[in-house]
Amino acid sequence: MTGVTLNKAVKKYGDIQTIFDVDLDIKDGEFCVFVGPSGCGKSTLLRMIAGLEETTAGEIHIGSRDVTNVEAAERGVAMVFQSYALYPHMTVEDNMGFGLKMNGHPKAEIKEKVAEASRVLKLDDYLKRKPKALSGGQRQRVAIGRAIVRGPEVFLFDEPLSNLDAELRVDMRVEIARLHKEIGATMIYVTHDQVEAMTLADKIVVLRAGRVEQVGAPMELYNDPDNKFVAGFIGSPSMNFVEGEVVGGKVTVPAFGGREITTSVALPGEGSKVIVGLRPQNILVKADEGAATLDLRERLGAVAYDHLICADGAKIIVETRGDEEIAEGSKVTLEFNDEDAFFFDAATEARLR
Ligand code: ADP
Ligand code: MG
Repeated sequence: MTGVTLNKAVKKYGDIQTIFDVDLDIKDGEFCVFVGPSGCGKSTLLRMIAGLEETTAGEIHIGSRDVTNVEAAERGVAMVFQSYALYPHMTVEDNMGFGLKMNGHPKAEIKEKVAEASRVLKLDDYLKRKPKALSGGQRQRVAIGRAIVRGPEVFLFDEPLSNLDAELRVDMRVEIARLHKEIGATMIYVTHDQVEAMTLADKIVVLRAGRVEQVGAPMELYNDPDNKFVAGFIGSPSMNFVEGEVVGGKVTVPAFGGREITTSVALPGEGSKVIVGLRPQNILVKADEGAATLDLRERLGAVAYDHLICADGAKIIVETRGDEEIAEGSKVTLEFNDEDAFFFDAATEARLR
């Protein structure tokens, strides 16, 4: 069976380094998601695993094989891209079977494999159609089918849902989760969308500027981020960050009118600055003459996002039910439990625990 291991993997284009000493251990059958902002190196890392980019230094292992210098076609992986790149003049059936046909597989075997992929992807009714008669989601399913028929040990997906509209994206996300359950192969999936990462992954790898910031299960990253970047990237709306100062063993927060937070984390010395993090779901907005101002309330239906300006001018977002009517522009009080606050070193942005 087939996991994927990266050992101090490095990518340089001439003098420009884009991937820095990445160590990763992706288990057999795992759904691993690379997530991070645009340009952080997700595609580069995936293409290095696929063999589409040379690895400048370090090693890549697939299963028990060192594939660092192995041709892409010999690595036992199949990749699905954002652009489906189907052959427009071929039917769905022929698009899916084309790779096998080119490799000289017998007709009967191709037919069987295409039928199996078509069943898994619910494409049976579309096999005789050409791509132009399919929706975006159906085209992407055909592209996935093309990968399935090759029977790869590892599937690589590079932002496969980015071209689809929001509703289809959700449908396809569910389809891909189901596909993983059904075929059980190792999958590595690249996205900049933290919701896709949270919902699909067994393991999330958060990347930033070519470096791994943290690896963990979705809820581990959400509940226990190692640094401010991961804390801010995972979760929606993003975690709020305000300044704090260590005074008398507690953290005083000017944004909240000098409110003190009691905590058991190891704080730096008296007078040190820290960053205080609070999730939008962990703050209560009370309609009274407090130190904050309700700037704007966005109603989404089940919830509302209150945009607030704090005592020191800091801006934060609070997720509420919006049950209590509060006029925009009015003064409010912000309440939260001390134990919901996260703390980060002001200089290194590392989590204080
Ligand atoms: P992501 O997929 O996370 O958006 P990429 O992996 O495409 O990011 O790119 C990572 C970084 O590598 C970017 O800064 C990009 O400009 C750089 N890069 C990608 N391809 C090349 C190339 N052929 N030559 C030089 N730099 C490149
Ligand atoms: Mg990319």
